[in-house]
Amino acid sequence: MAIFQKGVIFADVDTDNPNCWNLESYMKRGGYQALKRILDNKITPEDVINEMKTSGLRGRGGAGFPTGLKWSFMPRTMPGQKYIACNSDEGEPGTFKDRDILRYNPHSVIEGMIIAGYSIGASVGYNYIHGEIFEIYERFEEALEEARKAGYLGKNIMGQGFDFELHAHHGYGAYICGDETALLNSIEGRKGQPRFKPPFPAGHGLYGKPTTINNTESLASVPFILRDGGQVFMDKGIPNNGGTKLFSISGHVERPGNYEIALGTPFSELLKMAGGMRGGKKMKAVIPGGSSAPVLTAEQMMACTMDYDSIAKAGSMLGSGAVIVMDEDVCMVKALERLSYFYHEESCGQCTPCREGTGWLYQIVHRIENGQGRDGDLELLDSIGNQMAGRTICALSDAAVFPVRSFTQHFREEFEYHIKHGKCMVDHRWC
Ligand code: SF4
Repeated sequence: MAIFQKGVIFADVDTDNPNCWNLESYMKRGGYQALKRILDNKITPEDVINEMKTSGLRGRGGAGFPTGLKWSFMPRTMPGQKYIACNSDEGEPGTFKDRDILRYNPHSVIEGMIIAGYSIGASVGYNYIHGEIFEIYERFEEALEEARKAGYLGKNIMGQGFDFELHAHHGYGAYICGDETALLNSIEGRKGQPRFKPPFPAGHGLYGKPTTINNTESLASVPFILRDGGQVFMDKGIPNNGGTKLFSISGHVERPGNYEIALGTPFSELLKMAGGMRGGKKMKAVIPGGSSAPVLTAEQMMACTMDYDSIAKAGSMLGSGAVIVMDEDVCMVKALERLSYFYHEESCGQCTPCREGTGWLYQIVHRIENGQGRDGDLELLDSIGNQMAGRTICALSDAAVFPVRSFTQHFREEFEYHIKHGKCMVDHRWC
């Protein structure tokens, strides 16, 4: 069950109201005012982009790249078709925030995409929605229809001579389609595999045309920024980490769910909001930014604030803000085995280091977990990881290596015990 705090995207959204998603409710919350303000006052695309830069909004999909800067890379004045794409293909273990934005507040994404289209010179947009959440796709389609009927999409929006059309695109259920270039291939009807970069999408994206791809949460934050001001958004967070952010907490807490809080909030406070550790157990480890982020020990995590810089300083990544909390009963070997299997399954197979390496990582962790570990297995994991990281087309290979490195580094004793004794050192329920 999702639980929300007051922030930017969920401010005034009554998630208990079954109609909170529709246009009428959105308008009561100040919906489409930002777009109206821009078009009525003929605010230039350059000024919109500058406002985005002032907000300090960093991409909420994982990379944390400044959104305003990304928009400025588009060759806006170049003639020809340009596109904006929204990446709603969240499929990483632990992530579940974007689907709740689309479930409860889809018009914020639509308005954000229209404003983005205006700013970068795109007249067509696509929202690529994860294939395993069909009801969200249907809801987004309904919201699109409302926006079309109200004149917020289509030709001559609000009578101001601006044209923009937006389409929902159903994803194909593969994790790798969340990679921005795989997503573009998938929209084009091709196999959802990442492309070599360069060329980058800003120059050669969808159908070979300049394209900007933003995460759902990033785009849903845009209406607030353009309505209330970039500085107001920035001031909600801390320097270099502007605004509020959604954190999806799962695992061994009393109240798993989505929490929208200011960047820079201490992790201990976030944990308190989530009701603390389930059953009063002791915390053992936390993955702070989705399964591809390196795991941190409880001590490291309790010293962190929830922002890009603090988590990076501790040796991990804020990523998509998917916080997976593990208690003292978790076997870290078993937990890593599950993660390694996921990456092995989801490798698209284009690059040998990833295609072969993810399989080897899984096989070795699997045998350690099953009491058949060998002397030298930890060194072998390390060596395979070194042959994989940074040597492939996309970041999935690195994403498979990060958990292996961090789990075996921080919880080495557990892995060594498994190898030496052929069984688990934790009296737990997962193994
Ligand atoms: Fe595919 Fe893996 Fe290469 Fe990415 S790194 S393109 S997932 S094989």
